[in-house]
Amino acid sequence: MTPKSIQTRTYAAHSPDQPLTLHEIQRHEPRPNQLKMEIDYCGVCHSDIHQARNEWKNTVYPCVPGHEIVGTVTQVGDAVKKFKVGDTAAVGCMVDSCRTCAPCKDNLEQHCENFPTFTYNGEDRVTKENTYGGYSQRIVVDEHFVLNVPANLDKAGTAPLLCAGITTYSPLKRFHVGPGQRVGIVGLGGLGHMGVKFAAAFGAEVYVISRSPSKTNDALRLGAKGVILSTDKEQMKQFDRKLDFIIDTVSADHDINAYMNLLKLSGNICLVGAPENPLSVEAFSLVFMRRNFSGSLIGGIKETQEMLDFCGQHNIVSDIEMIRMDQINEAYERILKSDVKYRFVIDMKSLA
Ligand code: NAP
Ligand code: ZN
Ligand code: ZN
Repeated sequence: MTPKSIQTRTYAAHSPDQPLTLHEIQRHEPRPNQLKMEIDYCGVCHSDIHQARNEWKNTVYPCVPGHEIVGTVTQVGDAVKKFKVGDTAAVGCMVDSCRTCAPCKDNLEQHCENFPTFTYNGEDRVTKENTYGGYSQRIVVDEHFVLNVPANLDKAGTAPLLCAGITTYSPLKRFHVGPGQRVGIVGLGGLGHMGVKFAAAFGAEVYVISRSPSKTNDALRLGAKGVILSTDKEQMKQFDRKLDFIIDTVSADHDINAYMNLLKLSGNICLVGAPENPLSVEAFSLVFMRRNFSGSLIGGIKETQEMLDFCGQHNIVSDIEMIRMDQINEAYERILKSDVKYRFVIDMKSLA
């Protein structure tokens, strides 16, 4: 085991109902396959809030969230091949997996049969210690789980691609979304706005399904053909059985049946949002229209690199609002009010 001597400032939650505060940790020196990076930017995902507040009932405290990380490599272990000191690099939701099970071998590390090691609130496979995420000055990660960032992309705008980006890119790819299809994106937040950008880039006709009339102009600017106000029964009726595919990014309890009714015969609604409580699905809405109800979890490392390269080629980054680390608690409150355009990114230099 390598010495635990890398002093690191972080912001951590210490309980479900207290604000995050400054917290010092020690990280281990890199193992031969690991590298150390100084974190430049970290995106703020709604999952960070679910986790900091123990809404998924598995949080280990102190909890240092953050899994949309872009930084600069400052040290590499002897066996590291892909990266050198000075490279811009990125880390997403996972920092390790077993590498031997069928999903791991199939580049689906997020579905590792022995459970992936998540970037925070995970268990380090060697030390068995709790993992700490990107709300920190620096991080040590196995190079297999570190991504290359295309040089033309803005670093801060790239950070949210590591979760919000891949989580929407992956299902759109898996279900072959493209020209000739009408796609609905429910919820114009961090995931939703990336879903709109990707679905439009893949050539689909995109509709944002939102409760927020104030987001209409942004939705169109991001690439949507139209907006369906979910609070307006008439508009919802107008799109009855009109869509081929829907991504549901809603973070809170909601009536998924209202969205399912927008699907054509054999249409597919893919859940990526992870609300605290179970959803209730109307059997008749599914069976009479032989609709599909699917789910998706981030994406594997190979696909995440493919997504980043696609973004490099098409100049796609996230629309961000930059904050200082000490503004994180305020940012959480604004996310909960759906008041973010469309991802907060922390300037990690503010923690120096
Ligand atoms: P976010 O930025 O807060 O966006 C969620 C959006 O959902 C809001 O902007 C809002 O859009 C809509 N919404 C919120 N509450 C709603 C309600 N009660 N009813 C209807 N719509 C509502 O969150 P995010 O970071 O995109 O994350 C979204 C969810 O995905 C979270 O639960 C997160 O944990 C989960 N997630 C899953 C994965 C995965 O791999 N599956 C990865 C990352 C995140 P409007 O204002 O447009 O209505
Ligand atoms: Zn996330
Ligand atoms: Zn595995």
